Amino acid sequence: MALDHPVEGDGVDTSPPVADEVKYTTCYMCACRCGIRVYVKDGQIRYIQGNKNHPVNKGVLCAKGSSGIMQHYSPARLQKPLKRVGERGSGEFVEIEWDEAMDLATDWLGTIRKTDPKKLAFFTGRDQSQSLTGWWATNFGTPNFAAHGGFCSVNMAAAGLYSIGGSFWEFGEPDWDNAKYFLMFGVAEDHDSNPIKTGIGKLKARGAKFVSVNPTKTGYSAVADEWVGIRPGTDGLFVFALIHELVKAGKVDLEYLVRYTNAHYLIIQAPGEADDGLFLRDTDGVPLCWDKVKNASAKALDPEVTPALTGEYTVNGKQVIPAFQLMAGRYLDEKYAPEAVAETCGLSAAQIKRIAAELAHVAFEEAIELPIEWTDWAGRTHKTMKGRPIAMHAMRGISAHSNGFHTCRAIHLLQMILGTVEVPGGFRFKPPFPKPIPPNPKPAGKDGGVPGKPLAGAPLGFPTQPEDLLVDDDGNPLRIDKAYSWENPLSSHGLMHMVITNAWKGDPYPVDVLFMYMANMSWNSTMNTKGVMEMLTDKDPATGEYKIPKIIYSDAYASEMVAYADLILPDTTYLERWDCISLLDRPICEADGPADAIRQPVVEPDRDVRAFQTVLLDLGARLGLPGMTNEDGSPKFPGGYPDYIVNHERMPGIGPLAGWRGENGDEHGRGAKNPDQLKKYVENECFWQGHLKPSQKYYKFANRDYLDYAVHMGFIGHADQIVLQIYSEIMQKFRNAARGHGSVKVPEQHRARVEAYFDPMPIWYMPFEEAAVDTKAFPLHALTQRPIYMYHSWGSQNAWLRQIMNQNRLYMHAGTAKDQGIADDDWVWVTSHHGRVKCQVRLIEGVNPQTVWTWNAIGKRKGAWNLKEDAPEATKGFLLNHLISELLPEDKTGAGGGYRYSNSDPVTGQAAWFDLRVKVEKAAADEFGESSPQFPALKRPPNIADSPDILRYGAQFNPERHGGKTVENSVINRQVVGKGAPEVKPMTKPVPKKEGV
Ligand code: SF4
Repeated sequence: MALDHPVEGDGVDTSPPVADEVKYTTCYMCACRCGIRVYVKDGQIRYIQGNKNHPVNKGVLCAKGSSGIMQHYSPARLQKPLKRVGERGSGEFVEIEWDEAMDLATDWLGTIRKTDPKKLAFFTGRDQSQSLTGWWATNFGTPNFAAHGGFCSVNMAAAGLYSIGGSFWEFGEPDWDNAKYFLMFGVAEDHDSNPIKTGIGKLKARGAKFVSVNPTKTGYSAVADEWVGIRPGTDGLFVFALIHELVKAGKVDLEYLVRYTNAHYLIIQAPGEADDGLFLRDTDGVPLCWDKVKNASAKALDPEVTPALTGEYTVNGKQVIPAFQLMAGRYLDEKYAPEAVAETCGLSAAQIKRIAAELAHVAFEEAIELPIEWTDWAGRTHKTMKGRPIAMHAMRGISAHSNGFHTCRAIHLLQMILGTVEVPGGFRFKPPFPKPIPPNPKPAGKDGGVPGKPLAGAPLGFPTQPEDLLVDDDGNPLRIDKAYSWENPLSSHGLMHMVITNAWKGDPYPVDVLFMYMANMSWNSTMNTKGVMEMLTDKDPATGEYKIPKIIYSDAYASEMVAYADLILPDTTYLERWDCISLLDRPICEADGPADAIRQPVVEPDRDVRAFQTVLLDLGARLGLPGMTNEDGSPKFPGGYPDYIVNHERMPGIGPLAGWRGENGDEHGRGAKNPDQLKKYVENECFWQGHLKPSQKYYKFANRDYLDYAVHMGFIGHADQIVLQIYSEIMQKFRNAARGHGSVKVPEQHRARVEAYFDPMPIWYMPFEEAAVDTKAFPLHALTQRPIYMYHSWGSQNAWLRQIMNQNRLYMHAGTAKDQGIADDDWVWVTSHHGRVKCQVRLIEGVNPQTVWTWNAIGKRKGAWNLKEDAPEATKGFLLNHLISELLPEDKTGAGGGYRYSNSDPVTGQAAWFDLRVKVEKAAADEFGESSPQFPALKRPPNIADSPDILRYGAQFNPERHGGKTVENSVINRQVVGKGAPEVKPMTKPVPKKEGV
């Protein structure tokens, strides 16, 4: 879009041209993916502005988003492919041409694919192209693929997908326009940043109450109407106490439970039998309930039944009880009364009771009704849409505990009994959710990968029974991260935090190549950081070879991980490439309709770098992977990623982008390929948005209009009602296997664990580390979170964002510190069962007194990210990760005989970052001033210039303000080292198809 220069009549140029053109694209400074307008002048980025028409941010831009300029011009940008020449970890590289880099990668990977494809472990970090990377792994034939979800929030995702067919975070959102009460659990403010900020603004403008349950009073909690400063890891107990109060008071939406959940399903009571705890089903396998009118069993989903929610019945000789009664009976137990849990939660019983009463009041005395007619799954027409206006949201604070899956399920149970899922004022799904519970497909890779062949399906999926696990006949794991094994059966995002440890140990087997993208696994993205650095450099004494023989890494920046790779494939910045935010992946939808988006190159790369997604497709073509090569062996997507975005189809008519499909570009969702699709996106400000009809906007799990639409769009396979699960039969199937039933045998070592944690209804247990260590020796909880103005390790290397913060402190409650003689600004040693760090404290009042916390990923290793060696991030900043072990202490009590399980949730494998227990002691006076541990400074990769002492970015656009002199751009000029490769390169020459490759 060209900009006009306004002509001034009086000779005073009050509005000088700020740019030559404005290009629309999508922000990548965090995971929100807001729409942005990028102003470009003289080929340089001058300004970034929010796109007011974009569904995600509606014009709002945060500090990170505007600082994207400094991300793009970062002094840490890699310049060219690199090959390691020194010892691994030394940072000694030589630059090589792309041809050599691709030949090397093809050689390493080609050998594996021909012989044993599972010897490739392909794991990606916080990238936004997981539908491509997962599909690539499928075509390669390795089951060893996952992205960062396993160490981020899989507990939340899995608990939601196995309970209500969707989850918090980007799969749903509070009904910001109608909610009267908003209950938020453990959300760090860098996630879902702009949408939550604007949503909270809306709530406050309407006078709705916002309650934040979080051990720390920062960010969202700081603007909440009520802060519930809970003790970490006890949220599940708090929620059970709320449920206890609501059930006891009869404040439960029975009509909602009967219509939309499995509360009335009959559960078999046959202790010791194979069907104990399963649904009572008829001969066709249809679940049954007890019909109070007919006084007999009936199909649970028959719209004509009048089901019982309580009672005990005998059907065909089976003793059965409705799920609701089991649920109510469990949480009415006095051990869940507010008085019983208050001390453990660090709260008062009165506060818990009051919040329960407020929930009951808003749900049942302030219900709302929208005058919108809709038709349910059974064809019944309803004149209005009724809602109980309580919205909830949760994120990592719930998820990153070893009890997080059940805690998140508890929150969903609370939502269900109040009738607030997918109703006006409640929590709303964003299409393509809800999905069947759980979604299809199941994880592929039971054969462990066959030489020269693709996997039968995607490596990640959703098991529904023990037979779906990826274990051998003896129950041993088939994946390198032990996902989908008896250690963590429902690990639907894999266990990235275990990959390096397991590969180093060769447990369950060694790998040949570790291939990673955007994952800073030798620093802030790993537990046991020092240990992992040692594993990455450890050699087999017998052969002198590295225990992890080859490491390929792709990143745009000289992160700490670069030094530990053998081959570096330098990526572009997000402003230099085509990209796709797809409905097949993590879309940008709103509850009112689906949406997807693209990124387009705003500027050309000025370095010899290539977009990783294009490189991956090129590699696939060189390897002859079936999805990426034609019959004659030529590349299927010679135009790289943009070619794939337009021409790849996952199913007939369904591709990465939903907008402007079909020959004429007038079909959305499903339709033939359209060669002009990207052009249409660019014309439409780089996004597509579908709009639901009013009658489709709520009750999506049971809404005939919506379900039919979802089938048409390819979101779901059939339009059957999606029944919310207060009771999980799937969990019970795993528990019954642990009790010795069924054809799949659970190894003795894991039986008690599976039986304990595969409870069909939510449970609470003490987080594993807290249960394992001496809590008197380690009396405090320790947490990390990210500030609202940064996102993981990206933000803290950004020249503008560093000015907001460049040293993280350990935040400690002033009262707790005083008891230990610690004053503000003191330096302290923080010790866990695993390690010790030294850092500086900041005393505050707004934190649970038994909790200390810090900002993660501010602390950097010296020399990394091209920061000066004396940068505060390196000398005073610190990483809490050094204190966290990826393994739990030895399990001496169970049948494991001292086995060390991963530091994860036992159901999903979610990394339990927030289970950490520590003690804090004042450092000696001569120890003040520098953080510990320190490591040798990393060498700067070749051809990256030193960081500028003074940053003058932007001065070059206003020479008149500098006496008419041209001002050198201290960021750009020093980085241009040669004409870079264009973004969309033609693919490599056709590779002849080889037998078995
Ligand atoms: S919230 Fe995230 S995606 Fe949106 S502008 Fe800020 S950094 Fe960019």
